[in-house]
Amino acid sequence: MLANPAHGWPVWGHDTAVASLRRELAAGRVGHAYLIAGPDGVGKEAFAQAFALALHCQAHPDGDPSAPCGTCLACRKIARGVHPDVQTFSLASQAARAEKQGTKNTSLTIETVREVSATAALRPMEGRWRVLIIEDAETLQDVAQEALLKTLEEPPGSVVLLLLSDDADLLLPTIRSRCRALDLRPLSRASVTAALEAAGVPPDRATEVAALAGGLPGWARRAADDPKLIQRRQEAFERAVAWIGGSSYDRLVAAVRLGDTFTKRRLEVFAELEALLGVWRDALLLHAALPHYLTYRGNAERLSELAREWGMNDLHRAVCAVQTCIADLEANVRPRLALEAMVLQWPTFRLDRT
Ligand SMILES: [Zn+2]
Repeated sequence: MLANPAHGWPVWGHDTAVASLRRELAAGRVGHAYLIAGPDGVGKEAFAQAFALALHCQAHPDGDPSAPCGTCLACRKIARGVHPDVQTFSLASQAARAEKQGTKNTSLTIETVREVSATAALRPMEGRWRVLIIEDAETLQDVAQEALLKTLEEPPGSVVLLLLSDDADLLLPTIRSRCRALDLRPLSRASVTAALEAAGVPPDRATEVAALAGGLPGWARRAADDPKLIQRRQEAFERAVAWIGGSSYDRLVAAVRLGDTFTKRRLEVFAELEALLGVWRDALLLHAALPHYLTYRGNAERLSELAREWGMNDLHRAVCAVQTCIADLEANVRPRLALEAMVLQWPTFRLDRT
């Protein structure tokens, strides 16, 4: 377990969130429910684990209750996932339990929430707190969320509930309002590179993976060991380039099609838009002769073609259009409208391919 010298927790980046939580813990303020939100791979699990370490550590350095030592028995048990007062509920743990029933496992069910509530009612065995971590909280079915509300409304005194969600907006407002919100945002590329190198990834490989990681250290750590993740990102790049490379008509059709799937595939649509943003931004960077900052470094030649096609203002407008679209979708603008407005802002090819 490697403490980050910037803030003392074994978490990469997220300095602001760690600092504000550490201030509260140092002042003895421990809430009963936290909503840790941020995109997949941003480091929510590591953050939740560090929080549990701080709560259970038996040898706080300098007597600071917000600092975990990382070496006492409690810290070691948490790091190994065997501390009896720290439990994780997730789609994976639910699947492991429900295997015999052969049911589909795409959302957290009311049975899982009942298990959370039953565990919450037990007194802690070794420490002062019972830390219950609910991963994949964005998949909680509505009835499951309503059941969870009961625990959130009258939490047993020793319970600390950590809800981890890729998208906080998918939770009921009544759930959100009862949790202290901690938003984890993507890190700088330099922080992701540093995190990879600290984990033993060779510098060249770290630079290459961090460039593709979009600020997500968890994704980067997985991708450094798993070429399939890199391949999936390359496929997203291909789809984005094909969309941009289409005629005005094809671009609109693609926008409408994607808009119509938004309700069901919200997170996937945001991922497609992030890929688009990366391509337009890379074209802009190449135009500005800043190849060092490219996201899709391995595709520099094809990006140069796009960069040559348009001027700086055109490319900048396209980048802004994608950013506006993402903000509009987050603000619940009608998806089709948001996506159509975006493609209409993109520069067209000198010879429109209609
Ligand atoms: Zn400790």
